[in-house]
Amino acid sequence: MTATIIDGTALAAESRKETAERVTAFTRAYGWAPGLATVLIGDDPASEVYVRRKRKAAAEAGLEDFHHHLPADASHPQVAALIGELAEDPRVSGILLQLPLPAGLDRYALVDLIPVEKDVDGLTTASQGLLARGLPGLRPCTPSGVIRMLDSAGVRLDGAEAVVIGRSELVGHPAAELLLRRGATVTIAHSRTRALAEVTRRAEVLIAAAGIPGLVTAEHVRPGAAVIDVGIHRTDSGLTGDVRFAEVSRTAGWITPVPGGVGPMTIAMLLANTITAAENAAYAAIR
Ligand code: NAP
Repeated sequence: MTATIIDGTALAAESRKETAERVTAFTRAYGWAPGLATVLIGDDPASEVYVRRKRKAAAEAGLEDFHHHLPADASHPQVAALIGELAEDPRVSGILLQLPLPAGLDRYALVDLIPVEKDVDGLTTASQGLLARGLPGLRPCTPSGVIRMLDSAGVRLDGAEAVVIGRSELVGHPAAELLLRRGATVTIAHSRTRALAEVTRRAEVLIAAAGIPGLVTAEHVRPGAAVIDVGIHRTDSGLTGDVRFAEVSRTAGWITPVPGGVGPMTIAMLLANTITAAENAAYAAIR
């Protein structure tokens, strides 16, 4: 068997186009463009690259760019005051606090200052509570991208056996919640899971988000499964994922590449969340 490749680059382009159309319609209707505020603290090079990419994609979709870069020694009250200003600013539809934060800042306390209706990363306690209860809300971007990829490929989730490798609050745990809400029978594997391959071989849908390069081999994969590789690792020979693409492609039914898989979808979902937040706020104001 040779797996069908789910092309995240193409799907993300389609999603960004849809978002740009919604932004244009919003701007025509209300006379102003919704804005995405990005808050970067410190000089972590990887974070700088991620934020630059997010701002560029947001600008291309027609969103206003409100960027703030604070020094690594910014204090909790300084960051809190900035988030407070952005929370109050009606031109800011979404707020993204780039993680990780420099040592000494409490990420949970700071993230939770973002109002739930502007939480375009879906990481506040309130957003995660809405997700856990299955109530409407802004969902974390990477897991939303994963679901969108599975849907685009026509992978059936209702009643499917799904295994998520990883239980982080950013990826693994919310991905499992979203799959559960879609009717999958979900197992979450993590670093303490015994006999990982035995667990993952049950999966018709396998999400790899362990952050271990090449962890998932053909031995871990049920023939015909949909395998979504969330991992991103920079190596001397370029970017690679958690899944050994060449060998797993011969067993899986669908597979996502790295690069060109989940990565582009994450940014596309951030933009989609921002226009959704703007539309929700506009409807709430006229209701
Ligand atoms: P994380 O916070 O480090 O979480 C990793 C998870 O994997 C943990 O739950 C850990 O278990 C589990 N794990 C570690 N080793 C394992 C093993 N040998 N077997 C099974 N489970 C294992 O990482 P993350 O933030 O979720 O990110 C995961 C990966 O996705 C990283 O490579 C990251 O760069 C990538 N990522 C990509 C995107 C994108 O847009 N494509 C976005 C975000 C993250 P414990 O909980 O027991 O420690």
